[in-house]
Amino acid sequence: MNNIKKYLAYDKSVRAMGIDATEIVQEIRDTHNLSNLATAALGRVMIVSAMIASTLKNQEDRLTVQVKGDGPLGNIVVCANAKLELKGYIDSPEVELPLNSEGKLDVSKGIGLGNLTVIKDIGLKEPYIGTCELLSGEIGDDFAYYFNVSEQTPSVVSVGVLIGKDGKVEKAGGYIIQPLPDCEDSIIDKLESINMKLPSMTELMKKGRNIDDILQNATGDKKIETVYENSTAIKCDCSLKRIENTIIALGKEEALKIAKENGILELSCNFCNKKYRFNVEEVEKLFSK
Ligand SMILES: [Zn+2]
Repeated sequence: MNNIKKYLAYDKSVRAMGIDATEIVQEIRDTHNLSNLATAALGRVMIVSAMIASTLKNQEDRLTVQVKGDGPLGNIVVCANAKLELKGYIDSPEVELPLNSEGKLDVSKGIGLGNLTVIKDIGLKEPYIGTCELLSGEIGDDFAYYFNVSEQTPSVVSVGVLIGKDGKVEKAGGYIIQPLPDCEDSIIDKLESINMKLPSMTELMKKGRNIDDILQNATGDKKIETVYENSTAIKCDCSLKRIENTIIALGKEEALKIAKENGILELSCNFCNKKYRFNVEEVEKLFSK
């Protein structure tokens, strides 16, 4: 099912995109056995990353988003490609904190202060790297700030993850609205004032609103035009080859020491938790190549 869409509004002077990420956020929660707080934090980063990935132009283009904060959740990394295959992890998936003063998951405190970095590998010699400080650690604000200072694109970013009483991801989604260079100031003002008053993404989704409805409302343009739709998936591209390279980077001495001590050298992929096991002979063979 297509769950991500892009639109043009106001005679093609505004672009917008939106995603219903309920299923993929549940999947990433299940994969990493995430706490509620970690689900909201990693989920929000994933939602915005999926939308940025939808702007990649070539099939081989790749995106990496890193959120490095000094809070108890540690670092968050999300990778995506132009096919909208996503993978992600968070350093401390078990961390839970008391709810904030609004009774919501305290993502800001969990992430803390630090940096947001966006790396786009678009087939050039050097990847494009944009970085900025975290503004609040709430993710939505941080990306809005990133688009503004690092990509010179003023943006409205709304993102949310709502967890039900049963511990399941009830709703997760987000949208981004960006005026294009020829957009009139009056439209920019209108977008700002609408989005200051609009309920959160997950509240709108909970009311049964679909992405089209939500973006019509959030842009204030009933005639927005859909220009793209696609579906996202959680998919890891780890391979034996890549894990072997990690072992080689570890160095022969260290790798053999671990293998001999435990009888086996076991590495698991950070992104999908798949385990790769090597016995002493196999480790030796790796270094003899
Ligand atoms: Zn993997």
